[in-house]
Amino acid sequence: MALKLYNSLSREIEEFKPLHEGKVGLYTCGPTVYNYPHIGNYRAYIFGDILKRYLRYSGYNVKHIMNITDIDDKTIRDSIAQGKTLKEFTEFYEKEFYKDRDALNIIPADKYPRATDYVKEMLELTEKLLENEYAYMTEDGSVYFSIEKDKEYGKLSHFTLADLKENAKGRMKKDEYDKESAQDFALWKALDESDGDVYWNPSEVLGKDTKIAKGRPGWHIECSAMSIKELGESFDIHTGGVDNMFPHHENEIAQSECTTGKSFVKYWMHNEHLMVDGAKMSKSLGNFYTLRDIVDRDISPVAFRYWLYTGHYRTKVNFTLDAVAGSTTALKRLYEGFLALGNENGEVVAEYREKFIKALDEDLNTPQAIAILWELIHDTTISNPDKRTTLLDFDKVFGFGLEDIQEDMIPEEVVSIVTEREQARLNKDWAKSDELRDKIKDLGYEVKDTDSGPKISKI
Ligand code: AMP
Ligand code: ZN
Repeated sequence: MALKLYNSLSREIEEFKPLHEGKVGLYTCGPTVYNYPHIGNYRAYIFGDILKRYLRYSGYNVKHIMNITDIDDKTIRDSIAQGKTLKEFTEFYEKEFYKDRDALNIIPADKYPRATDYVKEMLELTEKLLENEYAYMTEDGSVYFSIEKDKEYGKLSHFTLADLKENAKGRMKKDEYDKESAQDFALWKALDESDGDVYWNPSEVLGKDTKIAKGRPGWHIECSAMSIKELGESFDIHTGGVDNMFPHHENEIAQSECTTGKSFVKYWMHNEHLMVDGAKMSKSLGNFYTLRDIVDRDISPVAFRYWLYTGHYRTKVNFTLDAVAGSTTALKRLYEGFLALGNENGEVVAEYREKFIKALDEDLNTPQAIAILWELIHDTTISNPDKRTTLLDFDKVFGFGLEDIQEDMIPEEVVSIVTEREQARLNKDWAKSDELRDKIKDLGYEVKDTDSGPKISKI
């Protein structure tokens, strides 16, 4: 058996062969820290996470880098609007992102490079592209990449400049645009009034004279600079959502390969969109939920993770609260089923492990892997200790946190006092209700009365 993955570059499922035996360099485009990510963004990060988990499970040593975009059109726009420095503004959302990541059981990347710490590397790439004439400078000292010079431009998104002839002439200063506006894109943007006081002086940063004007990097060059610095000029896998394929990843390839002359990334992997009523979930359409929004509706982050596995990463999935509520129930049943197995460990059941690997080797077929998990739970011929150990083995890939749930389960004693307190409240026996609330507190729990009944949580 061998791991096979869909490569957006070839548009084929290919056998995975890393550049260096036993090791994988993995890069995921990370969040732009101008707001809370929405759960569509988390589909992209959970996809990166299960890929990493499965590569590790398959025995690879994975180095995973995820950048933090703390400078782009949006972070500047919104920090100015809020009267904050760029750093103050972006630090807040970066921290919030890490909280969400932990709640979703996403394994932290090995490093989260911040774009603002790599401006020197970005300028060095820009200078090289000027030197070898893939880039040119405009009168104001901005630098643009000339897509016409790069004969391979379009190889990832599979279009040719001839298809887009009319539009392909001209320049694009904005960080984000669609295929129809494929144009020379900005590597470096000279300071303009919309940037406020966010700029770098290239001569100072590079420690030598340069004609590149005071200003700031374009978005695309950020990922080329950070990935090359952290993973080398050629690395194994780059992930992101399909909407990042053009222009962002196409431009990353152009900038990187035209600088180094080497193939940049071997496998490009893209997750499909999380949809709402037939449209992509996005900030601009306003049809989004943050992780907090779904938690407020009693959907746990891990239940969301479970739900994502029920669809293959390359298919669009339609988000509804009801659908994810179904996964909350399934996850609860899984936890209960797991706890009922007791604490004794046994052996991983080879037959199930093989089936599990077969499913995931086929371009990460998580719906099938989930079906195998339930088949195992319902299999009465397997002993409890073996079942438990096999489930824990699978959970290295799924990340449902089975190892930790014992601690999180609310003890029977607390549940029974809460029930007793509910009865007291129905009887309007407030004194008893308060007394029982204190008892619950003494046991380390807190009870909140909500419209949908009492909610218990650890203090
Ligand atoms: P952004 O912050 O816009 O660069 O997005 C972060 C990641 O989320 C990128 O990999 C996007 O491709 C991905 N993404 C954005 N919207 C969605 C969506 N609705 N479904 C799945 N992935 C998405
Ligand atoms: Zn990127």
